[in-house]
Amino acid sequence: MRSLILILAVALAACTSPAPRSLGGTSLRWEASPNFDARRPNLVVLHHTSDRTLDEALITLISPWRKVSAHYLIGRDGEIVQLVAEKDRAWHAGASWWGGNTDINSSSIGIELDNNGIEPFAEAQIGALLVLLSDVMSRHNIPGANVVSHADVSPGRKVDPSALFPWRRLAEQGFGLWCDAPLPLAPEALDLTLTLAALGYSPITPEASRQAFLLHHAGGRGILSDAEEKALAYCLFNKKSLGTE
Ligand SMILES: [Zn+2]
Repeated sequence: MRSLILILAVALAACTSPAPRSLGGTSLRWEASPNFDARRPNLVVLHHTSDRTLDEALITLISPWRKVSAHYLIGRDGEIVQLVAEKDRAWHAGASWWGGNTDINSSSIGIELDNNGIEPFAEAQIGALLVLLSDVMSRHNIPGANVVSHADVSPGRKVDPSALFPWRRLAEQGFGLWCDAPLPLAPEALDLTLTLAALGYSPITPEASRQAFLLHHAGGRGILSDAEEKALAYCLFNKKSLGTE
């Protein structure tokens, strides 16, 4: 009986395997393994909509002509709207780079916050975001450091969420990296571009990456000296390396 079941299982697997295909002169055949599950996101990218209302943002995010979406949209009142299943690839990041990954849409969850870009983020909205992040990140086992901004992954092209976004508050809950003063003195030879690249920022556009890093991590700290910028990047690098966030 057991061998009959085995034969049936093998026959079924054979039925579901795609036909062999040719790669130039090299043949490729299927041997379907049962050992797999759905691919999972490993990064969360936060955005602001630049819109005045949730309904205005929704029109854009569900219009077949606009070709943009996100997995979630959070209103100023804390309402969470899901637009794309987490297993599917939402179109929120566009041309992007993070840690050498150039297809951020394939590996991330995109969350839009309804905000016009110059207003403070509403308390109810941030509360809802924290609840959503806790749920998403625990289900997919996403490291705490892997919460970034659209500006981080698309430097020079995007500046959302704005400098008013409360990154420090998120980090207190374990979402994203943050360093407070006093910062450790960075080694004299430390290269800012390389350190930012180790955090994930693109080394292809170093000045744009530096600006994105400052928008995210130095918002509200005023102008930093070169030494302070290096100290900040060094502190974040240490936190990321140690997995303390
Ligand atoms: Zn965005």
